[in-house]
Formats: sequence, structure tokens, C-alpha cells
Amino acid sequence: MLDRVPVREQDPKLRATNFGEVAYGYLHDEAVAEANRCLNCRKKFCKEACPVAIDIPAFIAHIKEGDIAAAADVIRKDSMLPSICGRVCPQEIQCEGECVLGKKGKAVAIGALERFVGDWELKNPIQDVAVPAVKEAKVAIVGSGPAGLTCAADLAQMGYEVVVFEALHKLGGVLQYGIPEFRLPKSEVVEREIAKVERLGVKFELNTIIGRTLTIDELFDNEGFSAVFVASGAGLPKFMGIGGENLNGVISANEFLTRTNLMKAYRDDYDTPIIAGKRTVVVGGGNVAMDAVRTALRLGAEATIVYRRSEEELPARLEEVHHARQEGIDFRMLTNPVEILGDGEGRVRGIRCIRMELGKKDESGRRKPVEVAGSEFEIECDVVIMALGTSPNPLIVSTTEGIATTRWGGIVADDDTATSREGIFAGGDAVTGAATVILAMGAGRKAAVAINEYLCK
Ligand code: FAD
Ligand code: SF4
Repeated sequence: MLDRVPVREQDPKLRATNFGEVAYGYLHDEAVAEANRCLNCRKKFCKEACPVAIDIPAFIAHIKEGDIAAAADVIRKDSMLPSICGRVCPQEIQCEGECVLGKKGKAVAIGALERFVGDWELKNPIQDVAVPAVKEAKVAIVGSGPAGLTCAADLAQMGYEVVVFEALHKLGGVLQYGIPEFRLPKSEVVEREIAKVERLGVKFELNTIIGRTLTIDELFDNEGFSAVFVASGAGLPKFMGIGGENLNGVISANEFLTRTNLMKAYRDDYDTPIIAGKRTVVVGGGNVAMDAVRTALRLGAEATIVYRRSEEELPARLEEVHHARQEGIDFRMLTNPVEILGDGEGRVRGIRCIRMELGKKDESGRRKPVEVAGSEFEIECDVVIMALGTSPNPLIVSTTEGIATTRWGGIVADDDTATSREGIFAGGDAVTGAATVILAMGAGRKAAVAINEYLCK
């Protein structure tokens, strides 16, 4: 069995000091060589494991022939954002996790191949034709993250007039403000993929907070919309509730990353203030924690991850953990903070932690971390970044009557994305809580179908 063709990367020592992209992606010959590893299995396990069911063997077959335009045509049927998904999807637990080659060796590098095709298409754009808005009904979408963008693109292609309302001054949701430049370049990738959606005729209203600038009821009653898709994400950070969290130097990963990505704090030509610290501790083990710790490193800090379970349970993408290790991030596994320590003048001077061990499995199926009595110790630091997950912002549901929510604030939506209020649909992180780009895109697709059915009734 041929070995997987490696993806060329920026040298770890060098990239730890800059925000340039880590992985360079395949060149044409590398992509063709990797595509040739695919067995074109009769039963398409990889396709079944892709949340938007891209016909993976079909697009790979076109790469083998060197026909990248045809590969792009295949992907476009199911995804408008291949350059993004190829870079950030957790492929190892989705398509690549089911690739038969992965049973005995390394799965086909489906993500890297998808990225190759997506990037080719960005450099060789097809002439997208906006479908005229032939349908009478107008649809409003709240939020321009992957859920909102996908729903907008699908509805525009069905002939609807679609307006996306976005609270921020830039489009893309987490793709723009959360995931760092070194993993997902903004102007070369995110903005160019969004331009494809714009070329379909979708309109965007920036700096518009639904629930403040306009309410959902006003969208129906005064602005002439017949259906609304709420794709407002889950941007509200959580804290631990331990002592010292209000000290100077404690910050949520969301704020830290937004300052760096959206407001470009890492660039000398921007004035955005940021506290990067000399020694920074990031609490958490997901993608957000990895992004925060690697950002802190690039801003000049000695950076440490503190995570209460073991390496096996780290929820971040494997590649991110591997890259973080290569760059010199210090990982303290089975460690949980109990208090953030102050210097007597309101600033962070350290964090007191306790060692953990793994007990019995909990409701998530993972072994529950339990404290080891008497094992407390301190880590000296001047910044603590909390990356413990996020929940949906309550603004929309608190200003719109009749939308049922869960105990933790998620919008309740059925399998077809319909909420408890007629004409209002919801999907992505606003419904599931913090999840993944591709699951949000899948929800956007479902919502477009459901909204079309609703409007055709
Ligand atoms: P979002 O992307 O959150 O977009 C919601 C949008 O709605 C935002 O632009 C917001 O400003 C806007 N909005 C909110 N309220 C309003 C309002 N009232 N009016 C108007 N607009 C509003 N997933 C992966 O698959 N792979 C990864 O590697 C990965 N890394 C991540 C790293 C970080 C730092 C973070 C935070 C998340 C990461 N995720 C990753 C998760 C993924 O990005 C999200 O699951 C996904 O973006 C959710 O999409 P969404 O469209 O539901 O919401
Ligand atoms: Fe190719 Fe792997 Fe999919 Fe089979 S499972 S078609 S080898 S990518």
C-alpha cells in the first residue's frame, strides 16, 4: 500500500513566530499521487460519513485524471465552502475515519484533496450565474456563519430573494472571528468563498443586530419577509466559576481570538489592544483552546494548555494537537484549575491546579476525571484564557415571542429545523451548541429545503 503523500508545512520554529498558514496544501502532482491511492470502493463509506454527503470517490476520480474542474463540479453540488472544510473539518472522525485504507494504514487524505480542489476553484472561478429571484417570498437569515451562508446559497439557487443580517462588520461568523489566520486565511480563503455566495445574488446587511437594530417581528411585519432562518451561533463564553476569574489578565478565548482575528491585534498597523502575556495558561482541550494557545505563542508568550482529562480525550482535531506540540506548546493533562491567584494589585500572578485521574465512564461515554486528594500545585502565569465552551446568545429568543429553548439556552428545532414558532427556522450552533463547521452547513442545507417546502404550501 502506498504511503500517504505528506502535506508540506511551514517549519514549526518559524511558524511559531508568525501568523502565516501552517499547511501549504498539495501541488498538482502531489494531489494526483494522493488521489491514486483511493480504491474507488463500491460501498462509499467515506461519503456516508460526510455530513453533507459529498461524492468523495467521484471527485477523487476526477483528480486522478487531472480534471480538477470536473472535481470542483462534483463538490459544488453539496458544498459551497470546500477550501474552508478541507482545512478545518475533523476528517479523522468523519470521512477519513471510514476510509477502508485507514483500517490497516493511512486513510486517503480526503480533506487535503478537497482543499486542493477548493483552492483551485478560487484561482479559476467559474462564472457563477445569479439565479433571478423568481419566487415572490423573501427570506431573512440571521447570521453569516457556515449555517447561514449555506442556507442562503441554497435558497438563492432555488430562486428566492435572500438577505443575510450580520451583527459584525465582517461576514463569516467563527470562520472570520474565531479560527486564526494561520489555520484559515481570511482574505485568500474565507472572503473569496463568501464572494461565491454573493455572486449567487444573496444580499448581506452588515452591522445589523437582529433583536436590537430590527426584531424578528419587524422583519415579518415591516420588511416583507415570509420566513426567517436563525443561524446566530453560540458566541457566549463560559467561565469556571472559580475564585480569581475577575482579575486583570483573565479573558475568554472568544474575546482573545476575536481581538486577534477580526480586529487584527497581531498586526502592527492595527491599534487593537491585546493581553498576550509572558506566560499564558489556556484552560480547555478543544479546537478553541488549541487556537487560543497557539495564538498566544505567536504573540510572544510561553504558552501552556491545562486540560482535566487525558490526551486521548482531547476533543480538538488531531492535526491541531500535533501542530501545537511541534510548535512547543506545553501540555498539562489531567490537571484542573481550582483558583486563579492575584498579585495583590488586581492582576493575575498564577493559577492553582489539582491533579486528576480518570474514573468510571460518565454520560458522555468518556471516563470521568476525579481529583487526586492533596495534589494541588501552582503554575506561574500572567494571563489565563478560558476556552471551556460557549452557549447561544439569548438576545433573539428574549426579543421574539414563542421560540422554545432548552435549559442551556439552545433554540429548540425539529429534524427539519422548524422552531416552535411558525415561519421561524433555526440551525447550526444556535441549536446544537458549539459544534462543527460542517454540521452547521448541514443544518443550513436542511433549513433551505424546509423553508422552500413551507413557502410552497
Ligand atoms: P457562527 O459561525 O457562530 O456564526 C453565527 C453568526 O451570527 C456570527 O457571525 C454572529 O456575529 C452572527 N449573529 C449572532 N447573533 C446575531 C444577531 N442577533 N443578529 C445578527 N447576527 C448575529 N469547527 C470545525 O469544524 N473545525 C474547527 O477546526 C473548528 N475550530 C473552531 C475554532 C474556534 C476558535 C471556534 C470558536 C469554533 C471552531 N469550530 C470549528 C466550530 C465552528 O466554527 C462552529 O461550529 C460553526 O462556525 C458554527 O456555525 P454557525 O453558522 O452556526 O455559527
Ligand atoms: Fe477512496 Fe477511502 Fe472513500 Fe474508499 S473509503 S472510496 S479508498 S476515500
